[in-house]
Amino acid sequence: MFFARKYLIVVLSASCWIAARAEAETPRPHIEIRGIYGGVPTELLEDGSTLADHGINAVWMGSGSLTTERVALLKSQGARVFAEFNTMHVASYLKDHPDATPIGTDGDACPAPQGWQGICPTHPGYRKSRMDAFRQALADFEIDGIWLDYHHSHASWERAEPDMPDTCFCPRCVDRFARETETKLPDGPPSRIAELLLGQHAETWIQWRCDVFTDWVREFRAILNQTRPGALLGTFHCPWSDTDFDGALRNKLAIDLKAQAEYLDVLSTMPYHARFGHAADPAWISRQTAWLGKHLEIRGESGERLRIWPIVQLADWGESIPVGQVDAVLDHGTRKPATGVMVFHWSGLRKQMDKVSAMTEFYRAIRP
Ligand SMILES: [Zn+2]
Repeated sequence: MFFARKYLIVVLSASCWIAARAEAETPRPHIEIRGIYGGVPTELLEDGSTLADHGINAVWMGSGSLTTERVALLKSQGARVFAEFNTMHVASYLKDHPDATPIGTDGDACPAPQGWQGICPTHPGYRKSRMDAFRQALADFEIDGIWLDYHHSHASWERAEPDMPDTCFCPRCVDRFARETETKLPDGPPSRIAELLLGQHAETWIQWRCDVFTDWVREFRAILNQTRPGALLGTFHCPWSDTDFDGALRNKLAIDLKAQAEYLDVLSTMPYHARFGHAADPAWISRQTAWLGKHLEIRGESGERLRIWPIVQLADWGESIPVGQVDAVLDHGTRKPATGVMVFHWSGLRKQMDKVSAMTEFYRAIRP
């Protein structure tokens, strides 16, 4: 019995693998974007070939790495160019503005979890500096879109065991919360106030924090519409469902996907399966995409306003990714409701050209 069952599993796994492989080798007309994240892949152009020859039609790079020459080079290759924009993780800002430091439940500066430094989301000077930089990137470069990155609270979540302290209980955040939600708070030490906000006022507090982060997205959208209308607004965001880690997406990270989606064109989940504890289970990628599609009613059909383009992990980070897994990762990354995909990340992959070859082979195979 045991042997028979085991044998059946082997047979089933093998046939699933063959089916996945066959599917991976056929065009996927619903996939609009076959991208690379992390800069211009110059190594692929050295022998005179083009990005199109490699099946690549989009490149993402940090907004600080944009240059007119790079944008022109990528466009001449027929690729779309997208910028990544750091919203809540410009740690250097705190050097001259310590009052933008996130405050913990004890009323003191909250140490950076795993070294990941966030910023108080209600600091007006920080917000203005980010909005100005966002406008500048859109004004200066002929980009096809810009993606928000690190748009979440002071927390280190890009790991198998996330570290997500409760913040920000600075007087500015607490006063704004009390005023905007008409919540009466007693006088008392910061620890007592934090206890109330996380206790009897938790529901109001969580929604208010989410609304603060959503309002940033609203303003980014308004700036994009004024500065480069037609460019796409995307976001790189946590791939968890609303129940993963006890609802931490909203409760801890302050991400209200339904509310933010009103201002976004593209949601780029970050299902880094190997980094996040799913190294042997690339199907986790498509499960998370399927959840998001259901949550936001995105089916992956042409003409839909909202799109899902996951950024999937091929570079080694946390756990290494064998070349033999590249097909499976891209297969799960390109399943509906996803209509685009990009790989993380070029600076790691450029040292592992065997994986790059597997990736470009897959990209060429799924081209419509
Ligand atoms: Zn604050």
